[in-house]
Amino acid sequence: MSLRYVPPKPNQILTKKEPENLILGLKVVKVIPEPFPWRVRELPFLALAADVSITLCESRRGSGPGQTNMARSAIFCLLFLATNASLALLYPFSLSRFLLAASIYSVGTLVMLYLLFHPRNQWLVTNRSRVEGAGCVALTFDDGPNPVDTPKLLDLLREKGVKATFFVVGKRADQYPEIVRRAWDEGHLIANHTWSHCHLFCFLTPARLRAEIERGAESVRRICGFRSRFFRSPVGQRHPLLRRYLEDAGLEYVSWSIRSRDTLTRNSGVLARRILRQAASGDIIVLHDHLPRGAHVMLEALPGVIDELRARGFRFVLAGPREDAGVPTLEPAACESAR
Ligand SMILES: [Zn+2]
Repeated sequence: MSLRYVPPKPNQILTKKEPENLILGLKVVKVIPEPFPWRVRELPFLALAADVSITLCESRRGSGPGQTNMARSAIFCLLFLATNASLALLYPFSLSRFLLAASIYSVGTLVMLYLLFHPRNQWLVTNRSRVEGAGCVALTFDDGPNPVDTPKLLDLLREKGVKATFFVVGKRADQYPEIVRRAWDEGHLIANHTWSHCHLFCFLTPARLRAEIERGAESVRRICGFRSRFFRSPVGQRHPLLRRYLEDAGLEYVSWSIRSRDTLTRNSGVLARRILRQAASGDIIVLHDHLPRGAHVMLEALPGVIDELRARGFRFVLAGPREDAGVPTLEPAACESAR
């Protein structure tokens, strides 16, 4: 019998009767008694565990890095299971058992939070958080395009002669493709910030995670004519399967070294001082050109920040090489004009 992994469809019920689930069942049906009333999309962790488990089998026959990647995903799943299993120590209840369970649960949770949310952590996803070159800094703008603030930002960057990197949200880019195209035509770098900017990114099912990455990439390709090579997740969240899926999609994760917290700051002077206080050679600075209450605070702060950083001798660069932004997918003439 040959082993072949067929990913379950979003609403597919896992049973032993369907041919593809006989294969999936080698890993899944043992923990899912038949008849199984729930659907795959309602059980993200089981679907995740199944995907990790099957991929580990595949990677044993494959290359070394893939094996390491999936081993890390599997270790993360085990950490999740062990952390939650520690709650079983509470029964029968005693003070010593409570203290032991609380200690295990707290440590496990803190480690998981660190792995999922620390922007420069390399364990779950290899990422770049700095740019190379003495005196270089990179401005990056997330969550756009915004029909009001992004054109204002592009005007400002053109006036100052600064090139920046835009991590666009796919569905918003599809709404305002002319803004994204303008940014690309004016020499900025366009990168993938997922399709819908789901705030629970680290809990996505494998199928939804892949769709968020692929649909975001497809949106950039449709608008600019190339497949983006760079990716950043919502709020920098990691996911146990993100490294593998980014490799499959040919994407590199770009993190940051300065979080401006422009999403929370309502005073442009405070925002400017916060950035200028931290700025050093190689920094990647994260800002937002789309915010629910508008990006006017960032737009007020930015001219002063650019002038001051220039006065200190810094140069503004893209977060990644624009020449390598992706494989052109338009006709040659159209690619020329897109660049
Ligand atoms: Zn974002």
